Formats: sequence, structure tokens, C-alpha cells
Amino acid sequence: MDCLFCKIAAKEVDSNIVYEDDKVIAFLDINPVNPGHVLVVPKDHAEQLLELPEDNIVPVMSVVKKVMKALMDQPDIEGVNIMQNNYAAAGQVVPHVHVHVIPRKTGDGHRHWPGISYGEGEAALMSLKLKDAIK
Ligand code: AMP
Ligand code: ZN
Repeated sequence: MDCLFCKIAAKEVDSNIVYEDDKVIAFLDINPVNPGHVLVVPKDHAEQLLELPEDNIVPVMSVVKKVMKALMDQPDIEGVNIMQNNYAAAGQVVPHVHVHVIPRKTGDGHRHWPGISYGEGEAALMSLKLKDAIK
């Protein structure tokens, strides 16, 4: 399969690996938001989160936590964003599921996206719709 992150997992493409076990690999993002930005990737191909088998979710998230701990142990890192993009509309560029672990520091210049407000009754309607849809 012509998948960049499958190739990285198979060591056919070089990367700066920071952690690896039988199910998960973690390596430096080539264009980091901040130095130390890591991608945590299941070794088996799954395009986005909905395709990731349940028994890979805990292994992936447990490596996310290990990487976060290692980052928080660094003297110059004060916080961590965990981000995971699904589908092009949400900014996913590499179609192999991956979790961004992004080190942060106060005043590093990165901002969260601005929030919008619900109109009258919209939040109640939305929560009913989702409650109904969640299986
Ligand atoms: P996303 O937009 O969530 O699909 O993120 C894809 C990420 O993969 C981006 O942050 C890229 O900088 C990163 N990336 C692309 N190619 C490589 C590579 N060869 N090695 C490491 N990271 C990469
Ligand atoms: Zn893949």
C-alpha cells in the first residue's frame, strides 16, 4: 500500500523514532508546531479513527500518554495539546490515523480556534440529536 506512515512503520522511510512497540510507533513530526511535536501512529493501517479497531485504541492512547509524560518532564515544556484530525475537511493530510502530541509553552504564539455561540435553543436541539445518534 502506498501509505507514508505504513512505510515509516516498516522503516522503508526514515523518521526520528522516539518510541516503538509491537502495535504502535511514535516519531517526530517533520514540520513541528513546536520542537518535540510527536506523531503517535498505530502500525496497522487505518485511515481515520472510525477505522481503528477497538483493541488498538488503548495501545495508541497509552503511548500518547507516555510521550506526553516525557514532554512534561522537559524543563522548557509547560503544556501539551493532543490533536487528531479525521478527513480532509478537518485538516487530515496523511490518511493513516495519527495522534499529534504537541508541546506548548506560555506565550509560544499558538492560539486555539475561536469558539462560536449557540443561538436560543440550538444547544438543546444539538444535544438531543447527538444523544440519539451515539451508539
Ligand atoms: P495531519 O494534517 O493531521 O494529517 O498531519 C500530518 C502530519 O504529518 C503533519 O503535521 C506533517 O508535518 C507530518 N508529516 C508529513 N510527512 C512526514 C514525515 N515524512 N515524517 C514525519 N512527519 C511527517
Ligand atoms: Zn498506512
